[in-house]
Amino acid sequence: MSDTIFGRIASGELSADIVHEDEDLVVFRDLSPQAPTHLLVIPRKPIPTLDDAGPEDAELLGKLLLAAARVAAQEGIAETGYRTVINCNAGAGQTVFHLHLHVLGGRPLRWPPG
Ligand code: AMP
Repeated sequence: MSDTIFGRIASGELSADIVHEDEDLVVFRDLSPQAPTHLLVIPRKPIPTLDDAGPEDAELLGKLLLAAARVAAQEGIAETGYRTVINCNAGAGQTVFHLHLHVLGGRPLRWPPG
């Protein structure tokens, strides 16, 4: 298992406000929310960035997106709208090098993002 913060959350070594988990992924609340609802969807597999995902990860990547939609519905932000974001590499704002998908909602979201 990766020794990033998210790897340690996925392994149960670090606690987080988990809203869903299964054999492939964990969903928890962001510590520094940028919207009323801000969740992070992470694979248990320690893939550092989207660039490091390969064809063997295609099903897993699909599961991350499906989990994002499911938790958005659970959180009540599906109808009003939500955004999924993957920051890939430092220039795009990635700070934790364990692949993760942000789910943001509960307020109007502008486009383009900053
Ligand atoms: P990124 O900048 O795309 O790498 O996103 C990393 C996100 O992880 C940021 O939104 C942080 O607020 C969040 N974060 C960092 N540490 C934790 C933690 N221990 N629990 C929950 N969220 C965290």
